[in-house]
Amino acid sequence: MSTTLIEVRSPAGGELLASVPALDAAAVAELVARARAAQPQWAALGFDGRAKVLSRMRRWLLEHAEQVIETIASETGKTYEDAQLLELGYAVSALSFWARRAGGYLGDRRFFARSPLVAGRRLVTRYAPRGVIGVIGPWNYPLLNSFGDAIPALAAGNSVVLKPSELTPLTSLLVAQALRECELPDGVFAVATGAGETAEALIDLVDFVMFTGSTATGRKVAMRAASSLTPFALELGGKDALVVLEGAPLERAANVAVFYGMINAGQSCVSVERVYAQASIYDELLEKIVAKVGALRVGEPSGPASVDVGAITAPRQLEIIEAHVADALAKGARVAVGGHRRAGAGRFFEPTVLVDVDHSMRCMMEETFGPTLPVMKVSGADEAVALVNDSPMGLGAAVFAADLERGEALARRLDVGAVCVNDAAVNYFALEAPMGGHKASGIGVRHGPDGIRKYCTAQTILLSPRLMLRREPQFYPYTKSSAKLVRRLLNTLYRR
Ligand code: NAD
Repeated sequence: MSTTLIEVRSPAGGELLASVPALDAAAVAELVARARAAQPQWAALGFDGRAKVLSRMRRWLLEHAEQVIETIASETGKTYEDAQLLELGYAVSALSFWARRAGGYLGDRRFFARSPLVAGRRLVTRYAPRGVIGVIGPWNYPLLNSFGDAIPALAAGNSVVLKPSELTPLTSLLVAQALRECELPDGVFAVATGAGETAEALIDLVDFVMFTGSTATGRKVAMRAASSLTPFALELGGKDALVVLEGAPLERAANVAVFYGMINAGQSCVSVERVYAQASIYDELLEKIVAKVGALRVGEPSGPASVDVGAITAPRQLEIIEAHVADALAKGARVAVGGHRRAGAGRFFEPTVLVDVDHSMRCMMEETFGPTLPVMKVSGADEAVALVNDSPMGLGAAVFAADLERGEALARRLDVGAVCVNDAAVNYFALEAPMGGHKASGIGVRHGPDGIRKYCTAQTILLSPRLMLRREPQFYPYTKSSAKLVRRLLNTLYRR
């Protein structure tokens, strides 16, 4: 039997890093069967036993930080700092959070029903692990967005089979090796390397699918999962807007626009993909943004502080970025700074600011996922709200206003999953709060109580105390008086 191999190449230098197998359906079935066999023993360890393994993993990541950062940076082409702060930083904080909080979110809930129709009954809701969770991840954050979603699934007592992006599988393979060293029982975590077909085979076999990726692939995942009625959550693309209104701290707004627009070379789901600035402060804000973007160093990263903006990880992404810039220019936009693919080896795009943009342009309506910032002038809050909401996406947004009250009032009018006021995107690190997209940006959430309960089945147990049962009438046979009794009961309880 021949195995198809996938070559993993450095986006920054182009060299071959490794080759990994593209697992077929039979190989995926084997991993899932092992994961299923190992899961009861993992669940039986309880929250404390599992927390010990997750805590060992947290320490492992910190002790091997350089190896982790190097692996991520080599296969994504991102800067040392983007790998360090966002990926490693998220992973250790998530390991700490779920190890401590899983038990609180998933412990039995005991309560009495409010409805008089079930008066006196006691209820227990319990959360049990589903079994095997299939996590399918993207290439832009191979640690944060793939292993990150596996952490609460494991903390809840599930096994996980992770299908990383075919462009960036090496980080996940390192994670699997690390978890073995941290004494995670055999089979509880496995990596299924491969592309779309491997992912499809996984969807057919698991008990829940956690997918992060593009909206187009998310639709395919939903359709595939529907045929076996497998539950799923989708974290999809975004077109996050930043709104800056009169009276806002402009220096801070410009810093945030540039940092969250350019971080990870613009390849972040929650980010700044478009800016709306009130006319009265537009020129001053634009001047600051252009100066800051113009000062950024782009190129092949080689350790800390070597560059500010790294490579474009996926070959097709570079074409999308170029197409969005070309489309904008053809429709009347101007480049204020940047605007071109960098010549030479590796995939790089100059940090770019586009002006004179409008909603006829792809750069304002579709996810660009690159180091580009289109800045549009608006008359005020009402126009900004209308334009932010004029999008098929609804992942995140950011608002800068004269004060927090006005910022929060504006935030409540935006049809997106999370809004930061005087900030952007950092809500991703607030693991207590649900994070998920509206509209075509997703279904379901990660983080918060629902971010771990989705990996569980909820079972309700109703307990009728024997004492109470003695006082209740028999059900059958139905008589005229029983109908009258029910009518009187309903009128007494619910007439008012
Ligand atoms: P993608 O949709 O191309 O691929 C994602 C994953 O799906 C990969 O592992 C891929 O192999 C797999 N896949 C491909 N075909 C499949 C199929 N038919 N069925 C099931 N899986 C299949 O996405 P990408 O280009 O790797 O990632 C970038 C996208 O991810 C962007 O749109 C970005 O906004 C989004 N993203 C969203 C979040 C979020 O939290 N909302 C986070 C990170 C990235």
